[in-house]
Amino acid sequence: MPFQCRRLEFAKSDARSLLFLLQYLIDNYSELQLVTIGSFVLHEFVFFSFGLPYLFMEIAGLRKYKIQNKVNTYAAQVKCLVRLLFYHTCVNLPLMGASYPIFKYMGFTSKLPLPSWKTVVFQILSYFILEDFIFYWGHRVLHTKWLYKHVHCVHHEYATPFGLTSEYAHPAEILFLGFATIFGPAITGPHLFTLWLWISLRVLETIEAHCGYDFPWSPSKFLPLYGGAEFHDYHHRLLYTKSGNYSSTFTYMDWIFGTDIGYRKLKALKEMGDEIPEPVVAIDEHLTNGKCENDQSKQSLLCD
Ligand SMILES: [Zn+2]
Ligand SMILES: [Zn+2]
Repeated sequence: MPFQCRRLEFAKSDARSLLFLLQYLIDNYSELQLVTIGSFVLHEFVFFSFGLPYLFMEIAGLRKYKIQNKVNTYAAQVKCLVRLLFYHTCVNLPLMGASYPIFKYMGFTSKLPLPSWKTVVFQILSYFILEDFIFYWGHRVLHTKWLYKHVHCVHHEYATPFGLTSEYAHPAEILFLGFATIFGPAITGPHLFTLWLWISLRVLETIEAHCGYDFPWSPSKFLPLYGGAEFHDYHHRLLYTKSGNYSSTFTYMDWIFGTDIGYRKLKALKEMGDEIPEPVVAIDEHLTNGKCENDQSKQSLLCD
């Protein structure tokens, strides 16, 4: 059998397995269980299986393609993991349960057949655009002095992000992130398959944006308007009042509202081959006028 035909056969059998798995889940669990527990299990699986390798790369000292020279201490890495497990269980899980009645009211279904690929693609693209828009404005508000000091500084404890730090945030911010993520599905009432695909892609996107590595194969290298790791890493490196690059997924919101000027200037200088000094990291701001009240141990988070 020619190679192309074999690949097609594999793809068909994968699709059949996926449908079989979905049918099994639908037959054995309620929609509430699938949206709450199912989404939680899927989220944890995607989050840790994609996020942990970046942590191992940092621990292993893989410096090629690493955006910043600094690495996090062992204590900082463990602290991130422990808090994530706690917040995922105590904030994310109840949020998924609370979302189900809204999804259902708006037409959510888990019944087969699956929606057409055109519907799935249109909905997922819309969710990315909506989430990016809400995130951009919410993120800018989080960078005002009071909210930064009391809420958003938790996420910025990690001036050198490593994938898992993408969801390391104050519980109030986790609720905001959750709102931005479920807003699209909440107004469209998607199929369970679309919801799970959206959750998976959104998790992959935010982990990649915080991974700390800028590979030649990173999505930002071939997807137009996509931000990615280098774009968001800049946001984590700078003082909270000067950072910019507030979008989650795309670059156009920052371009339209002029909040990427510093980033674009720095990038242009780098492309011209100029020697650029390491920008002042957010940690310095924590230790001066923007001191975070939620954490006392920032001085020990980084090492060279
Ligand atoms: Zn921020
Ligand atoms: Zn971030």
